Amino acid sequence: KEMTDINALADEYVRLSYHGLRAKDKSFNATIDTQFDTALPSIEVVPQDLGRVLLNLFNNAFYSVNEKRKHIGGSFMPRVTVITEHIVDDAQEASIKITVADNGLGIPSAVLEKIYQPFFTTKPTGQGTGLGLSMSYDIITKMHGGELKVETIEGEYAKFIIIIPDKQ
Ligand code: ADP
Ligand code: MG
Repeated sequence: KEMTDINALADEYVRLSYHGLRAKDKSFNATIDTQFDTALPSIEVVPQDLGRVLLNLFNNAFYSVNEKRKHIGGSFMPRVTVITEHIVDDAQEASIKITVADNGLGIPSAVLEKIYQPFFTTKPTGQGTGLGLSMSYDIITKMHGGELKVETIEGEYAKFIIIIPDKQ
């Protein structure tokens, strides 16, 4: 683990993910809305692994807004929002919270109960391995002692929340 600037990591990977999808699909456009806590402290993480988690969340988010765009077309404005926060709970324990939200397809409840299973994917063959979220869950919970949560409304949005304790 190394002291890592989470805002810089998130900013780098959200752009990487966006441009990766745009390179494959020239008609894709999205607004990237970053709401970074400018006073966010650096924290001890494995940057390559947290980077893989963020990249997968961003890839999933851009994929979902692009699929929605293809279905409903012109009036839809794809948006991926990335928020970082420094939070302190009732027991005075500090954490870093990273929110990745998209206004894409959302996740139906029958899919939601399976998203953390290895090899579960709803993407066509060749587009997804189904390993992203299961790997992400292990990296956040086992490797960093954190939490990975999801909130979604089908057809409206999906929001993934990472919480990593800031052990000083
Ligand atoms: P993959 O991306 O290879 O399909 P993941 O483990 O990253 O594998 O995601 C598993 C499944 O969870 C996806 O196939 C999709 O059905 C669902 N999912 C994940 N993120 C989102 C999202 N932001 N919006 C809608 N569905 C999602
Ligand atoms: Mg994925």
